[in-house]
Amino acid sequence: MSGVTELGYVCFGVSNLAEWRDFAAELLGLEVVAEPKEPNRLYLRNDYWHHRIILEQNPVDDLVAAGLRVGGVEEFAGIQKTLKDAGIAFEVGGRDLAAERHVLEILRLSDPAGNPLEIFHGPNIETYKPFLPSRRMHGRYLTASGGVGHMIMRHAGIDAQYRFYKLLGMRGGVEYKVPTPDGNTAEVLFMHCNDRDHTFAFGPPSKKSINHLMLEVDNLDDVFMTHELVEKSKYPIMISLGRHANDQMFSFYFASPSGFLIEVGWGGRPATHQSEYYTRDTYGHVFNSRMGPGMSIDKETRV
Ligand code: FE
Repeated sequence: MSGVTELGYVCFGVSNLAEWRDFAAELLGLEVVAEPKEPNRLYLRNDYWHHRIILEQNPVDDLVAAGLRVGGVEEFAGIQKTLKDAGIAFEVGGRDLAAERHVLEILRLSDPAGNPLEIFHGPNIETYKPFLPSRRMHGRYLTASGGVGHMIMRHAGIDAQYRFYKLLGMRGGVEYKVPTPDGNTAEVLFMHCNDRDHTFAFGPPSKKSINHLMLEVDNLDDVFMTHELVEKSKYPIMISLGRHANDQMFSFYFASPSGFLIEVGWGGRPATHQSEYYTRDTYGHVFNSRMGPGMSIDKETRV
């Protein structure tokens, strides 16, 4: 099996690193690690990994890299052959890039929509350093074999995205066919590579590479605790509490300091490995009427 096994880490370029530090610590409870030799970067932890999120000072306020893991040396060689045979350009990173990302080996490429990807194996797992939340939590973040979480990303046609991610070893299909006010139907594609219902999804129009990052907690009270903290903060809740039809996640969405959204959820079911589709969510997930065209998701699309 030379396919990808999880979304191991994400790297965001953020224009206000100091604001993000407070947002990550106070609202999300993530552990913030600053390396003295890297003043323009912060690492966010929520399990034993060296990092699950990297924040870099960068005006793009967007995804800079999505790190997809493969099993090991053989799988890393295997996926290079797969990419070469398919005529997909990639660049193998040297020791410096691997060290920078705290992995053994790494390569870089873009998906058909220009989303920046890294494929790696051998993350640095700091077993001596259990996650230390920056604020109180009832439980913990749920990562394990499901990876850091899931993202909705920009696409240039869902068929092209499907073919590309299938090549990387993912499975999936259209799971939502949502009626739109103009009488058409919006389709949303979901792809998975492990027991997490989906790792990447493609559907709503987006100028930015990322629409949202979902982080899952193992205790429902942490969803409500985060919700209360966000309600008291300056960051607007963009999609209300509700339950998705596909992954059955109970969640809500709020704006990050970079504009793209963070979803915090609980209770997601494992990937079923069989196709189904839905025309709406189970309940809730009402879009905030303040979500104008400047926001990165289509307010009529419930996902
Ligand atoms: Fe989501």
